[in-house]
Amino acid sequence: SKTNDSLMQRRHNAVARGVSQIHPIFVQRAENATVWDVEGRQYIDFAGGIAVLNTGHRHPKVIDAVKRQLEQFTHTCFQVLAYEPYVELCEKINARVPGNFDKKTLLVTTGSEAVENAVKIARAATGRAGVIAFTGGYHGRTMMTLSMTGKVVPYSAGMGLMPGGVYRAQFPCPLHGVSEDDAMASVERIFKNDAEPRDIAAIVIEPVQGEGGFYVASPAFMQRLRALCDQHGILLVADEVQTGAGRTGTFFAMEQMGVAADLTTFAKSIAGGFPVAGVCGRAEAMDAIAPGGLGGTYAGSPLACAAALAVMEVFEEENLLARSQCLGELMRERLSAIAAADKRIGDVRGLGAMVACELFGADGKPDAELTGKVVAKARDKGLILLSCGQYGNVIRILVPLTATDVEVQEGLDIVAACFAEL
Ligand code: PMP
Repeated sequence: SKTNDSLMQRRHNAVARGVSQIHPIFVQRAENATVWDVEGRQYIDFAGGIAVLNTGHRHPKVIDAVKRQLEQFTHTCFQVLAYEPYVELCEKINARVPGNFDKKTLLVTTGSEAVENAVKIARAATGRAGVIAFTGGYHGRTMMTLSMTGKVVPYSAGMGLMPGGVYRAQFPCPLHGVSEDDAMASVERIFKNDAEPRDIAAIVIEPVQGEGGFYVASPAFMQRLRALCDQHGILLVADEVQTGAGRTGTFFAMEQMGVAADLTTFAKSIAGGFPVAGVCGRAEAMDAIAPGGLGGTYAGSPLACAAALAVMEVFEEENLLARSQCLGELMRERLSAIAAADKRIGDVRGLGAMVACELFGADGKPDAELTGKVVAKARDKGLILLSCGQYGNVIRILVPLTATDVEVQEGLDIVAACFAEL
């Protein structure tokens, strides 16, 4: 029978080594917040496929909706023969994305593609080509989004320079010595040193940085960015690929920021495990690109649209936004209690159920090694964790919002045990 080791061997021989793997595990089956590997071992899943499973693995409503769609048709290409689920999803997203203005939506397949298209739209809408992105930002693995992603190793290392016209501002992060004033000054510095505001199409920001370390932008900072964008005719783009679909306690994190973005990208949990992503924004901006300028063969796949529509219903029926807030409190409380007894945990933070803790060594420096050890030990104890952060020293939790309190506490018990033993 198949083992993790034997499959790992085949993987090493068959799969490009650039595709990394955090856990040496091959999955057999998954249900809500539980995963079973090919050897029958059971794990609590705090990774959720990297923020894709806010409604859990195989939510029955989502599976049902996809099955019904499977029985009708699986693909026509929306640009050839259109179908209602694509339109309905755009209508629902337009109604959900913050901003008191007419909106339109484009569907694509991945988060990277969504960000890539947000830039294309911003360029067409403004007639400008420059983009400002932030330190520690993560926007994807296509060439343009690699330019925007604020971490060279490992994402673009060995590949040469990525497309130009992207300027790097500092993401506010008081924990590492960057105040909001510093961050605003870094944007002004770009205007002074690198590019005039009238050459900048968009400022692209994650309301809560995901891969970069779960640092939360404050409403005050987002409001200052909004004002700056308004002053210079720059589009504010919120990359909600990781923060969206209820992870932060509101359907989109920008709902908590007091201002609206001109364009919003979404992906990941929007379709509960099926690949769909998109850009939603001001109708005039979205319509700046002429027919034929947007799309894709699989973009807005009917199966994924059916899944996304089901996800949005599940959020209503199961009150998952309230659940997200409540789970966030539970996790922050418990992690804070663990941190109170352990100096190595220097910070516990998050927004809603997007929760993380950050680890430091005795010298006060970010401790990536300890972080790796906690992730590995947790796995041995039956918990799938993920790390993140510019320094690799952040443990993040993206547990399904449909997990029970008991499951989440069990997972946090394992986290506590790991710290106790290490
Ligand atoms: N933007 C953000 C904020 C993300 O977290 C990610 C994925 N981690 C992406 C974009 C890229 O999404 P994808 O991997 O689906 O291309």
